[in-house]
Amino acid sequence: MAYDVLTEEQREIRELVRSLARERVAQRAAEIDASHEFPWDIVELFREHDLFGLFFGEEWGGTGTGTLLGLVAIEEVSKVCATSGLLLAVQELGSLGLKLGGTQEQQERYLPRLASGEWLCAYALTEAGSGSDSAAMRTTARRDGDGYVLDGSKRFITNAGVASLYTVFAKTDPGAGHAGISAFVVESDAPGFEVTRLEPKMGISGSTTGELAFDACRTPAGNLLGAEGEGFKLAMRILDRSRPGIAAQALGIAQGATDYALEYARERVTMGKPIAEHQLIQAKLADMETECEAARGLLYRFGQMVDAGIDGPELTKASAQAKLKCGDLAMWATTEAVQILGGYGYIKEYPVERMMRDAKITQIYEGTQEVQRLVIAREMLRETRAFLLAGVG
Ligand SMILES: Cc1cc2nc3c(=O)[nH]c(=O)nc-3n(C[C@H](O)[C@H](O)[C@H](O)COP(=O)(O)OP(=O)(O)OC[C@H]3O[C@@H](n4cnc5c(N)ncnc54)[C@H](O)[C@@H]3O)c2cc1C
Repeated sequence: MAYDVLTEEQREIRELVRSLARERVAQRAAEIDASHEFPWDIVELFREHDLFGLFFGEEWGGTGTGTLLGLVAIEEVSKVCATSGLLLAVQELGSLGLKLGGTQEQQERYLPRLASGEWLCAYALTEAGSGSDSAAMRTTARRDGDGYVLDGSKRFITNAGVASLYTVFAKTDPGAGHAGISAFVVESDAPGFEVTRLEPKMGISGSTTGELAFDACRTPAGNLLGAEGEGFKLAMRILDRSRPGIAAQALGIAQGATDYALEYARERVTMGKPIAEHQLIQAKLADMETECEAARGLLYRFGQMVDAGIDGPELTKASAQAKLKCGDLAMWATTEAVQILGGYGYIKEYPVERMMRDAKITQIYEGTQEVQRLVIAREMLRETRAFLLAGVG
């Protein structure tokens, strides 16, 4: 048996997810891409097989199997359909505010419904004028009696219109910069809340990406996550944990494209032999496979760190490194896969065309690759590399 860092139990669950992905999700991928329709049937499939519970503790009705296995599941699903893999990643992204910053009462109210997948959720940080610079947000929240009143809008929010619960960031003290931002959970039927627009996109077409409007939107005071002013820190802690979900999606896309290109290369004959026997094609395949393994090493290490209870700057750096490596890999490996298929790679009948379009977003959302580099460099500069200075001065 091939060497594997997963335990026997983890391997068994991976096998179940892999079979489900191959037998039930793969056949829907092209249709989801072409129709641009949100795949409620895949949501139902994941509910039936408890996949939404993979990132949740048993006390909330989840599987309690840990972060590493959750990432493995996203990878397996994304090998065949990146939109479907994103369903799992965003359920974690939208729940993390409650998990990391919620009171017992808030967690009891919401987490069981999110773990079962009865409710989908979303994370609303970005605005039209603030993406990478999220502290420049303009949405405000003002205390009014037993609630908060939110005004403003959010842009590019995954699961807009299909989520029942949104983690929303807004300024409770607009003059205080980062320290003036607070986090709330807002239910989709809150008065004054509306999804005002859905974006047509290059890839991950079945996933909704939309604009949220808050027009004197009331949310109970009990829906504030943490204390006023703690929202920015929470937003960043959430991203530390959730970015690797996107890394797992990216790795799945890259491995799916590599696997497809390999099979194609065995069959396609030019100049009297399968293209897999031409050394230039072999070099591409060898590089793709090796880069996937290298990226997997970074990603799984992150999962193991979370499962071992590691937090703080070390986790921040590991998260950004996994996202950076896997996102760039997805774009490069899918481009190589298209090249291996030649003209057929450019045609919609073959899945690598979709995979290449789906890959691009993994270099952009949950922090662009430039932002990941800033994060990694910041953490490097904080570390003491004393041995380098030995003997200097
Ligand atoms: C399909 C999709 C789904 C999304 N889902 C969500 C979601 O669920 N929730 C959510 O809150 N947001 C979501 N986003 C938003 C996404 O996270 C942002 O688009 C992203 O963070 C980049 O922000 P921006 O688009 O404003 O680009 P900008 O911040 O304007 O950046 C433009 C370019 O400048 C670069 N740049 C910016 N600042 C610096 C700097 N200091 N140094 C070097 N380069 C820099 C960027 O890397 C980028 O290349 C989604 C976006 C898309 C397209």
